[in-house]
Amino acid sequence: MRRTLLLSLLRPPLTEKAPRPGDAAVAELAASVERAARRRLGRSLSIREVDAGSCNGCELEIHALNNAFYDLERFGIRFVASPRHADVLMVTGPVTKNMREALERTYQATPDPKWVVAVGDCARDGGLFAGSYAITGGVSEVVPVDLHIRGCPPTPTQLLEGLLALLEAGSGGRNGQMP
Ligand code: SF4
Repeated sequence: MRRTLLLSLLRPPLTEKAPRPGDAAVAELAASVERAARRRLGRSLSIREVDAGSCNGCELEIHALNNAFYDLERFGIRFVASPRHADVLMVTGPVTKNMREALERTYQATPDPKWVVAVGDCARDGGLFAGSYAITGGVSEVVPVDLHIRGCPPTPTQLLEGLLALLEAGSGGRNGQMP
């Protein structure tokens, strides 16, 4: 017992190292996304997240975009509660049969022009759950998808890179004309 106490005093903590404040690469990437959003939309970018049946791993990474490290809102990008206020639908998970109609209705409720971003391997083709009796398949089986961001789960930096690629590509094709 005495030895354990002594070791706990001498050893460094086992927790992850704190991230460097204001990581320059992430800040630059987010600022590029903001500039591209303003150029395309003339305003900030609003994202509605839809969990169509994920394991929540992708949600943890998406939520990280709002933490003090990534602090996405400072770049004019925000998550909104209603699809009626959204420019982008960010969809995770394989689309379960139970969520198919909800996803279709959310898509219909989002005004044009709109983009759909499928996040994670499950959203691309069912991922780990491919072939399950409970799923319809990837997101593109239900609504048109403009961009797939791969990973299980993708990191917040990959999510930002995906948003930037989407905005820079100016893909308005299937979901409406971009201004
Ligand atoms: S891609 Fe991976 S982390 Fe994301 S919902 Fe599927 S299993 Fe979970």
